Amino acid sequence: MKYDDDNIFAKVLRKEIPADVVFEDDKCLAFRDIAPQAPTHVLVIPKAPIPRLGDATQADREILGHLLWAAGEVARIEGLIDSGFRTTINHGEGANQTVFHLHVHVLGGRGFAWPPG
Ligand code: AMP
Repeated sequence: MKYDDDNIFAKVLRKEIPADVVFEDDKCLAFRDIAPQAPTHVLVIPKAPIPRLGDATQADREILGHLLWAAGEVARIEGLIDSGFRTTINHGEGANQTVFHLHVHVLGGRGFAWPPG
């Protein structure tokens, strides 16, 4: 799908909307979800304009790896390494993706069922 520059996370990246930032570097930004589904709920987003996981190209492989590394960093910062945490990427409306800028959910601080709902 085509990237929409007006999506909420593009506005967060442009600092038009405030965010509670947990981690940032040259490739990604991690900030707290506005409607947390667990005691810790952080979103890790690339600074590159990728709408959905399935829209990423071979040229995006480095950033995709970087996002997963950053998700682990967020878990470490939030003290979740020993207790456990869940990472989730929703692709498309069928998986309840509501913001079309790629994001990795990092959830922790409670138990998680498997399989996910
Ligand atoms: P998804 O349903 O996978 O697309 O996840 C989008 C997430 O973005 C949801 O968990 C929302 O609560 C969260 N969200 C929406 N707007 C904001 C915002 N301005 N700041 C932080 N999180 C947001």
